[in-house]
Amino acid sequence: MGSHCVLALVERGERVVVVDNLTTGFRNAVPDAALFVHGDAGDKDLIRSLIEREQVETIIHLAASTVVPDSTKQPLAYYQNNTSHSRNLIEVATELSVPNFVFSSTAAVYGTGVEGLLTETSELRPISPYGASKMMTERMLADASSAGGPGYAILRYFNVAGADPLCRTGQSTAGATHLIKVACQAALSRERQITVFGSDYPTKDGTCVRDYIHVADLAKAHISVIDHLRKNGASDIFNCGYERGYSVLEVIRAVEYAAGKKFNVRLGERRPGDPHTVVASSAKIRKTLSWSPGFDDLKSIVDHALAWEERLAAYPRFGHGQEPEA
Ligand code: UDP
Repeated sequence: MGSHCVLALVERGERVVVVDNLTTGFRNAVPDAALFVHGDAGDKDLIRSLIEREQVETIIHLAASTVVPDSTKQPLAYYQNNTSHSRNLIEVATELSVPNFVFSSTAAVYGTGVEGLLTETSELRPISPYGASKMMTERMLADASSAGGPGYAILRYFNVAGADPLCRTGQSTAGATHLIKVACQAALSRERQITVFGSDYPTKDGTCVRDYIHVADLAKAHISVIDHLRKNGASDIFNCGYERGYSVLEVIRAVEYAAGKKFNVRLGERRPGDPHTVVASSAKIRKTLSWSPGFDDLKSIVDHALAWEERLAAYPRFGHGQEPEA
């Protein structure tokens, strides 16, 4: 998500400073037009000196640990990285009067048991430490803002998927578990298969339903929300999704269609903690930010994800827009 946002920002002429500790990120995902600093978002001294030196007026806070099952195994590591480090960042932003703060949150703050579309006012009942760690940061940011801290926008991402339409960047983390990524990998390798986690849910075909949002549309939402804050728009929370749910089997069929072949699909057990349906109401972001998506169809998402996966398969070390040396 970070690299897609940076591309969108430098394309419109913004000056961008990227802070990344590279635990899951890639140095070559940062375009030359941005300044790269190797460090941690929770390092108060580093962040303080960068804000002062670079005269930062907007912080986009995307740094986090994001694997839900991992968070149940190492909750304290998640609270450390996602909550404590965020607290440091919010503290420094407040101390130095940074006016605008955009925070990447998640649909995982809602948890299970909500029928119909999730709105920003739906009850928050995160079922994983990951969701809880993000919910706490949301709350800290809102409280700090009320007490004189930065104006804020919280973006609750639904299922982020796809890749840069020009194939300059995409999801490159080894061992990623997201459905569309795994399905694309299965399409490209005969050895790989995909397991459907549960086929007895009360949904259209028994498999879980999610609202997949194209990463480029999500990058566009960040731009829209920055413009909103710069115009003194009110601090607020926005769901980022399309109001449209696809089942696991529909996604797999779409990847098979894009790849032009069937692949190995196994119907397996339910994955613990999976809500059966997670679909956003996107009325608020469309109305308040005049955000309109450009890729809200599964075909574009899958086509771009597959193109990126093909690139990674061909040039594993050169995924981020670099061709191998001759
Ligand atoms: N899923 C699956 N097989 C996989 C990966 C995911 O059946 O190999 C399902 C998962 O159970 C969920 C949906 O696909 O219902 C989306 O999962 P993903 O991990 O992509 O995102 P999440 O919704 O957990 O954030």
